Amino acid sequence: MTSGYDSKRILVTGAAGFLGSHLCERLVDQGHEVLGIDNYFTGRRANVAHLLNRPNFELMRHDVTLPLFVEVDEIYNLACPASPVHYQHDPVQTTKTSVHGAINMLGLAKRTGAKILQASTSEVYGDPEQHPQTEEYWGNVNPIGPRSCYDEGKRCAETLFFDYHRQNGVKIKVMRIFNTYGPRMHPEDGRVVSNFIMQALTGQPITIYGDGQQTRSFCYVDDLIEGMIRLMNSPDEVTGPINIGNPGEFTIRELAEKVVEMVGAEAELVFRDLPVNDPMQRKPDIGKAQSILGWEPTVSLEQGLEKTIGYFRGIVTR
Ligand code: NAD
Ligand code: UDP
Ligand code: UDP
Repeated sequence: MTSGYDSKRILVTGAAGFLGSHLCERLVDQGHEVLGIDNYFTGRRANVAHLLNRPNFELMRHDVTLPLFVEVDEIYNLACPASPVHYQHDPVQTTKTSVHGAINMLGLAKRTGAKILQASTSEVYGDPEQHPQTEEYWGNVNPIGPRSCYDEGKRCAETLFFDYHRQNGVKIKVMRIFNTYGPRMHPEDGRVVSNFIMQALTGQPITIYGDGQQTRSFCYVDDLIEGMIRLMNSPDEVTGPINIGNPGEFTIRELAEKVVEMVGAEAELVFRDLPVNDPMQRKPDIGKAQSILGWEPTVSLEQGLEKTIGYFRGIVTR
């Protein structure tokens, strides 16, 4: 235990996923009683295998679209596929997960008096016309496109969080997460960092969608989890929404070149069609996170890629 915190009973949904597994690890190490739930759609038990023998960790198969009756002090609601490939695989289920999942977890928070944090997303800004994006920006989202199941599902979840807060006094924390990467992303997750690293390590061409001039800002997972826990532990009046991400902005082409150079591969860059409604630019304004949470990222893209490449190298050579 590295405590300093009082031990709490904490529910993490999406616990076997990429971010969920890192969050559970941190909370278990802090000495909390952690209950992780997951339906294993994109997550894997292997992500939390190292926690299964810890006395303060429990993992349960459960789908958040169904009611759940447990007694907890805090809820981190992360359940939802995050990669466009996966959330577009069964779009109706994606919306159900965001909307019904939020209703059930908010109902649980209302009954137990638990504080609840929502893993929202920079996708609520859509293809943004304001750059960088501040929390005040309402976004530019297509309601009927292939990304809408995720974008609108997450927007509706934010609405539900604020309505349960206003109507029922539920203590809420809404966190808008910008592109985050690191060890334990699924090698076939489909998102850009894992795709490029796996391609470079296995001698495949690097698939750039469009001309590669679109931008993203990449946050390393350890920084993200620190921001998430700080937000949960902030005073009750801090509801968010609050952006958490790394403001360092790169074109996708720059990312491809950096990965190829760092892996030390002779990889060819190939260009594929840009997916429909793929945002052209994305970069968080993190002024609020800095002033309210005293948080800012500490890991550079180079340092984060180094660790992530090391992780995927271990998988490829196993
Ligand atoms: P992930 O796909 O690795 O994890 C999501 C987890 O949720 C998986 O373990 C999956 O099996 C589980 N899940 C999906 N539907 C479920 C359901 N109906 N019931 C129970 N469990 C379910 O993705 P991630 O990157 O770890 O993302 C975690 C959360 O953070 C998601 O809500 C995502 O929208 C949000 N987020 C992530 C990023 C990012 O860059 N990683 C960016 C913005 C938002
Ligand atoms: N719910 C849950 N666990 C609880 C309490 C509620 O899963 O401990 C679910 C409940 O099944 C309901 C949803 O949360 O479908 C919303 O609950 P709320 O109390 O807001 O609404 P109501 O039950 O009045 O429809
Ligand atoms: N992308 C790419 N090649 C890939 C995977 C993704 O060029 O193999 C691009 C994608 O079109 C987008 C950016 O990289 O412009 C980030 O994609 P990702 O799926 O990681 O996240 P999101 O679009 O949700 O930010």
